[in-house]
Amino acid sequence: MQFSDSIFVAGHRGLVGAALVRGLRAAGFTNLLLRTSAELDLREQAAVRQFFATERPKYVFLAAAKVGGIWANQTSPADFIRDNLQIQTNVIDAAYRSGVQKLLFLGSSCIYPKFAAQPIREESLLSGSLEPTNEFYAIAKIAGLKMCAAYRRQYAFDAISAMPTNLYGPGDNFNPETSHVIPALLRKFHAAKMHGEKEVVVWGTGAPRREFLHVDDLASACLHLMQNYSAEGCVNVGCGEDLSILELAGLVADVTEFGGRIVFDDSRPDGTPRKLLDTSLLDSLGWAPSIPLRQGLEETYRWYAEHAGSS
Ligand code: GDP
Repeated sequence: MQFSDSIFVAGHRGLVGAALVRGLRAAGFTNLLLRTSAELDLREQAAVRQFFATERPKYVFLAAAKVGGIWANQTSPADFIRDNLQIQTNVIDAAYRSGVQKLLFLGSSCIYPKFAAQPIREESLLSGSLEPTNEFYAIAKIAGLKMCAAYRRQYAFDAISAMPTNLYGPGDNFNPETSHVIPALLRKFHAAKMHGEKEVVVWGTGAPRREFLHVDDLASACLHLMQNYSAEGCVNVGCGEDLSILELAGLVADVTEFGGRIVFDDSRPDGTPRKLLDTSLLDSLGWAPSIPLRQGLEETYRWYAEHAGSS
């Protein structure tokens, strides 16, 4: 990749896309092609084809997706499967047709079977049933990475796929019903502290274990893969460590300086019992994360308190 190459970051207003833009700019790339969803609806095939035919980007980071936490996935399955299938099909196909040199597709660790052996290796894909709370999103993402593999095989299109673990960072969605666990907890603990409340309710039993990666680390890994990886299989992107939701809640209470009690609401779903990625493939490609969880939480909390913390 040359610094002046035209690079389309699809979904640049999202958590991942915004981090990619920050990372690319910091690395010296100057020719970024960006469109908001109002300017270009990636679910519309004709508009996407027209955009690629006119703008002819050389590289594409496909970070546009309809995403959400466990509750959003459970209550809007049709929106998750439709929007994601449309966005990725349109972008991957139009990128190939317009002669894009290389495309990186962003998947998600929820594509792996619910009871995959831990840490989860790339090969465990499609070896068992999915976690029901996000299976429609997962099916769409699996279709996306298989589409990249198929275009590579049939058309020699250089499309690669990265599978990030659970992500967090500045610019995340902090809506209490639709967000992922880290922004939800930062918001809940912050609000409880501000209003002098004695307890915070955390969903599920507290037992599930999750691995979390700062989105700036993901962006750095994606840039590394774009420059150093070209093969059919997807690549896990994680930090190699997980913790329980109970431990996470304790850490968030600490970071937000909330001194009250933490209670669990087991009428809310736990989701998959554990999700930790095996990152040996990525390690072998010479990349490692650099933002420890506590430091990342502190930074994300500062961002939240500055941008939205009055609610
Ligand atoms: P998942 O990895 O797809 O399950 O995504 P989430 O980030 O939505 O949830 C991770 C875990 O955190 C699940 O076990 C949730 O039940 C738990 N959790 C605890 N409190 C919350 C909350 O307020 N919001 C969300 N989204 N999850 C929570």
